[in-house]
Amino acid sequence: MVDALDSGSSGRKFVEVRVLSRAPDKKFMIPLKRFGQNFLVDKNILAEIISCADLKENDYVLEIGPGHGVLTRALLEKKIACLHSIELDERLRLELEELEQHEKNFHLHWGDAVKFDYSSLNPFPNKVIANIPYNITTPLIWKLLNFSGLGLNYFLFMLQKEAALRIIAPADTKERYPLGVTIEAMGRARIVKNVSRNCFRPVPKVDSAIVEISIEKNFDFIKNSSWSDLLHRGFAHRRKTLLNNLKGFMGINISEWQEIFNSLGIDENIRAEDLSCEDWIKLGVRI
Ligand code: SAM
Repeated sequence: MVDALDSGSSGRKFVEVRVLSRAPDKKFMIPLKRFGQNFLVDKNILAEIISCADLKENDYVLEIGPGHGVLTRALLEKKIACLHSIELDERLRLELEELEQHEKNFHLHWGDAVKFDYSSLNPFPNKVIANIPYNITTPLIWKLLNFSGLGLNYFLFMLQKEAALRIIAPADTKERYPLGVTIEAMGRARIVKNVSRNCFRPVPKVDSAIVEISIEKNFDFIKNSSWSDLLHRGFAHRRKTLLNNLKGFMGINISEWQEIFNSLGIDENIRAEDLSCEDWIKLGVRI
C-alpha cells in the first residue's frame, strides 16, 4: 500500500506516505505540482517540527494542507485541544475523513486556504503548524496575519528555503520584501532549521526551511490596506529610489514626499530594501 522508501545509508528514518500508492480501497494518486504536493517523509524532521511547536493541552492548532496526514497524525498524538486542517485536493477526502471519524478533536475543512474564511473556525486556533504548498506561501501568510489580533499569533511553517530567507531578511539586504518588513513590524521570525529536499517525496527541486513566526504587536497594521499598499508601491521597482516609487502614491506629489522624508529624517536617496523597519512604521503612521 505504501511506496517502499529507501532508508538510505544516512540511517534516517522515513515516514510512510502514500506517494503513488495503490491499495485495494484507495485510488492511485499522482502528486500534483500545482498543489505543491511534496510530502514530508523524514521522521526526524517531523519530530523537530513537533518539538519546536511546544504543544500544550490548551493549544488550538490550524494545519494547512494535511495531504496524507503525516503531520496531522503527529499533531493529534500530542493531545492538543483541537486541530483544524484545510485541504484543497478532493482526492484525499476518503483517507482524511477516515482519520476524522476516529479523532474527536480533529476538524477537516475543504477549500482553498488562501480564500478560506478563518473567522468561521470554532474553536478559533492560536497556532498554525504546516508544511505549506510553496506556490501560495506569500498570499497565505498575508492572509493569516490578519487573524493575529484574534489570537492566531504563532506560526511554524515548512517553507521553500528562498521564501524563508526573504521572510527573515533584514534591512539592507536584497532579499528584503514587503511581507518580511510586516512580520518584523509585528513580531519576530527565525529559521529553526534548514531542511534538505531529500526529506520529501517526490523530491522537489529546491531545499526547504522550518520558520517560526511570533506576532506580538501592531496587530492592526495588517488590517490597514494603506500599509500593504505603501510597502508594495515602495518595492515596486527595485532599481528606483523609494522616493521615486512613491511619487503620486495616495495623491502625494514628489515635493510633498520630500517634505515627509525630511521631517522623518529619511534619506531621499534610499531604496525600499534599505529602509529600516522603524522608518517604514514612521512612514505608515504619517500617511
Ligand atoms: N502536510 C503534508 C505533509 O507534510 O506531507 C502535505 C504537505 S504538501 C507540501 C501541501 C499540501 O497542501 C497538499 O496536501 C496539497 O494538496 C495542499 N494544498 C495545496 N494548495 C492548497 C490550498 N490552496 N489550500 C489548501 N491546501 C492546499
